[in-house]
Amino acid sequence: MAGTTIWVLGDQLDPAGPAFDGHRRGEARILMVESDHAIRRLPFNRERRVLVIGAMRRFAEHLRADGWDVDHRTAATLAAGVLAHAQEHEPDRVVVAHPTSRSGLALIRRLARALPVPVEVRDPVGFITRPGELGEMLGTRQPRMATFYREMRLRLGLMVEADGSPVGGQWSFDQENRKPPPKSHDLGAPPLWLPAADDPLDVTLRAEFAGLPETGAGGERVMAATSAEAEAALDRFVTARLEGFGPHQDAMMNDDWAMSHAFLSGPLNLGLISPRRVADRAAEALDDGMPIASVEGFVRQVIGWREYVWGWYWRRPWRTANELGAEAPVPAALLGAPTRMRCVQVAMNGVEARGYTHHIQRLMVLGTLMLQRGTEPWRAMQWFRSAHVDASTWVMAPNVLGMALFADGGQMMSKPYAASGAYIKRMSNHCRSCPYNPAKATGENACPFTTLYWSFLDRHRERLARNPRMSLSLRNLDRRDDIAEIRLEAEVVGARLDTGDI
Ligand SMILES: Cc1cc2nc3c(=O)[nH]c(=O)nc-3n(C[C@H](O)[C@H](O)[C@H](O)COP(=O)(O)OP(=O)(O)OC[C@H]3O[C@@H](n4cnc5c(N)ncnc54)[C@H](O)[C@@H]3O)c2cc1C
Ligand code: SF4
Repeated sequence: MAGTTIWVLGDQLDPAGPAFDGHRRGEARILMVESDHAIRRLPFNRERRVLVIGAMRRFAEHLRADGWDVDHRTAATLAAGVLAHAQEHEPDRVVVAHPTSRSGLALIRRLARALPVPVEVRDPVGFITRPGELGEMLGTRQPRMATFYREMRLRLGLMVEADGSPVGGQWSFDQENRKPPPKSHDLGAPPLWLPAADDPLDVTLRAEFAGLPETGAGGERVMAATSAEAEAALDRFVTARLEGFGPHQDAMMNDDWAMSHAFLSGPLNLGLISPRRVADRAAEALDDGMPIASVEGFVRQVIGWREYVWGWYWRRPWRTANELGAEAPVPAALLGAPTRMRCVQVAMNGVEARGYTHHIQRLMVLGTLMLQRGTEPWRAMQWFRSAHVDASTWVMAPNVLGMALFADGGQMMSKPYAASGAYIKRMSNHCRSCPYNPAKATGENACPFTTLYWSFLDRHRERLARNPRMSLSLRNLDRRDDIAEIRLEAEVVGARLDTGDI
């Protein structure tokens, strides 16, 4: 059999994906390549390799059991794997879904020139919109998430009345969904779906990849690695945990690493479940009486933020983004040094144990710390890549560089996510068990976040003054009479963050 080769990349694990369209078992062969270079080159969270390679191997097995002829091979690089496959099997053509990164696209173009047969690139797997579509949808309008999200709801007819108005009377219930954590020990959400702790393939993979450059102590996979597992995780989330997601989606707690989050980013990013399916399933819960604020809050993440970020990845180059001229290293506490900062400790426990922190920890603890310290954006990006199991370039670039570090100078977000310890105090129970005082910017036990917040505003005052949304913060800065002390304290805090003595 020559026929077509359907080349499936590691984040395109959907047997109903565009590359499969029009092909039948027996007439097409599936190619999957495990690239040694991709697996070994960079430090990853230990559980990321377990999740991604495990998902690929399970997918190949699933296809075989379903009657497909699968060539699942290991090779030094992706390109070497594809070329060796082509030499061995001599396909008439190669079909592949659009990759999720610019480097992936460049590789496919190079291969298309090197191969003697046509290479057809189809729509991507795992997204509702195509690369470039964000621009088409918004035209000359200033790209803002709220506008994009409304258009997505209308386009999908999701939670929209017959007259085009939003179900529940408003497009966003964000104002109702920013509750601080309860006074209790933890949120009390029903447990999330988890795979069997002794899953044999996970155990094998942990042993196979031992010794590679890695972060985290591993040993706990918290995300689905097959479509069936993803369905189970989604079902558990919607039936048991979604209700609590809404009000507490921005809260953080010392003793609750999962809160009410969905743990679906991994399977979504691997193509194991589609964003449309996830959003539809959540919307169906309205019929069972699920509060609209919770459903809308979640749907906005999946078809709003996720697709918006995907669109932004393709809108500009990110590699060199550094509008604030940030040059500092990644804080030592994120690289293994112990820290007394409770909020950072709790987030780092999540990285260590399972390669997972939730959104507000990523944005307002890890991200804000690096923004205000002035960490060089690409180093921050590399750190995020090494820390989390769901790391993918397309999602990290806009989130880390655009949203958290303001390295695009405000193209994507209208203002930087700078914040003092007061924000973390309001939205978590961390500060109560922290030796630092979130109200203090200088002096004994001053909170590093608070010192760095004022110093950040002070350092970037000129640029921020052009932004009307920063005027209140800058007026508050002007009212401070201790800015000279803050500058000195910020120098000390910066040095202590670098050396890990904080
Ligand atoms: C600095 C920073 C780094 C991030 N790095 C990653 C990353 O490497 N991989 C990744 O998938 N997400 C990343 N995110 C987005 C978001 O934090 C994670 O998707 C989310 O925490 C994953 O956990 P969950 O599935 O339990 O999400 P939930 O809180 O339950 O949210 C549900 C789903 O909404 C989607 N979502 C929500 N917010 C975003 C967003 N801003 N961008 C994209 N999707 C979103 C995700 O698919 C997520 O699974 C990052 C955000 C920030 C601020
Ligand atoms: S006091 Fe400051 S460092 Fe400590 S937990 Fe609160 S915000 Fe974090």
